[in-house]
Amino acid sequence: MGVESVRIFNTVTGQKEPLAPLVPGQLGVYVCGPTVYSYVHIGNARTFTSFDVVVRYLRYRGFQVRYVRNYTDVDDKIINAAKETGESALELAARFVREFEADAKALRLLAPDVSPKVSETIPEIIALVEQLVAKGVAYESQGDVYFQVSRWPEYAKLSKRNLEELRAGERVAPGEQKREPLDFALWKAAKPGEPSWDSPWGKGRPGWHIECSAMAAKHVGKTIDLHGGGRDLIFPHHENELAQSEAGNGCRFCNVWMHGGFLDLDGAKMSKSLGNVVRLRDALGKVDAEALRYFFLSTHYRSPLAFGDKSLADAEGRMEYFYETLRKVDEKLAASKAGEGPVDGDPRRSLTEFEAALDDDFNVPGGLGVLSGLFAELNELADGKSKVKDKAVAARTMAALRGVVSTLSPALGLFEESPTAWLERRRDRLVKDRGLDRAAIDALLAERAAARTAKQWAESDRLRDALKALGAEVKDTPAGQQWRVVG
Ligand code: AMP
Ligand code: ZN
Repeated sequence: MGVESVRIFNTVTGQKEPLAPLVPGQLGVYVCGPTVYSYVHIGNARTFTSFDVVVRYLRYRGFQVRYVRNYTDVDDKIINAAKETGESALELAARFVREFEADAKALRLLAPDVSPKVSETIPEIIALVEQLVAKGVAYESQGDVYFQVSRWPEYAKLSKRNLEELRAGERVAPGEQKREPLDFALWKAAKPGEPSWDSPWGKGRPGWHIECSAMAAKHVGKTIDLHGGGRDLIFPHHENELAQSEAGNGCRFCNVWMHGGFLDLDGAKMSKSLGNVVRLRDALGKVDAEALRYFFLSTHYRSPLAFGDKSLADAEGRMEYFYETLRKVDEKLAASKAGEGPVDGDPRRSLTEFEAALDDDFNVPGGLGVLSGLFAELNELADGKSKVKDKAVAARTMAALRGVVSTLSPALGLFEESPTAWLERRRDRLVKDRGLDRAAIDALLAERAAARTAKQWAESDRLRDALKALGAEVKDTPAGQQWRVVG
């Protein structure tokens, strides 16, 4: 199997298709980014994590990926939010770009190669609108410019909406200067107090959809390999991007359209307008970043995912199991001198199985299932419970499987930390959350270490129980006492 084995579900055809890059070995990926008027919530974060892994895995597979994710920094929601805070709309947007970048880093999202902003793409947006007007698919009306849907017969080919039904459901809102209800704004005439730029139609600002057509063409190309976002973007945002780009540039806009499922809370899509949101930074205050990633990734990116506090706690418990396994394995490997020689079975089989899962439309849950089996094997080997009786063979097998974990880790953005550092951080957080007496625990641990040095085993056992009563479970390892918070 090679890179030609990657298959992706394409919204436009409704099928999984083999990935066929425009330029062999290279991929241009454009993901719709956040509208920066507030802090992002974990619903947004789920979608950004899905595409983070798409990019990570495609790079792992050897593609040279150009990854672009934009900021919508000119928008009605931003203008309205700025009215409340007294900042200018662009100041407020710049502030939330910085907040997003801090959150994205905390969640270990890859930094895109380019993160363009609408406010920095105005000349390209104006040029595209002019092109659409020149081609007769857009018209100016009192300083606004609209895309005329009836002039573009392919409209709705992505979302498969029924135009007649859409027309019946749409009204021209007061203040809009449209010819037909389905027409959508490419450019909006300036209103007092709003950010605006000079244009051939007077002062104004872009409509929402045109920005992504202009930014994708500027930073990826007029035809792009892959375009992503949450499924709420299929209509109207991506449908409109598609119409603008293809009508304006006269060529295919995008080969593969990928859309992620929603994160739901209490049975409804998490969204700011419904008010059922958990901010990403609040979630990251409670749970480790890799645990949150693990929670997102344990459901396929196209399926809905229900959020609950318990799901985060479960995900962190699972990560603790993984890291505890790795800690134990690393400790054993450091103490073993197995050298070169045969291993048991074929440790690289897990790698092949993992790749087969992810090649199949990024089946990350399938890949994590493969890893579960691998971790179970690592545990057996580290605990001496494996069927492999030859110690050197067992150690080499363990090293090879540990190597597989390290190889896969960048494709998922998981297991990237030192196991001891991760486990200590988790323990410190649990100590704080449960209000345990750290000073008392440390004092008893020191007493117990002294008792053990003096070979006072009864005293050591008494102190073990005393520690347990304080919420600490102690274990004796070649590296000395280790403790965790009682589960
Ligand atoms: P927005 O800032 O609202 O434009 O959203 C940024 C990204 O988050 C888009 O790709 C949306 O589709 C996605 N998104 C918004 N809400 C959710 C949700 N509840 N679950 C998954 N993705 C979401
Ligand atoms: Zn977009």
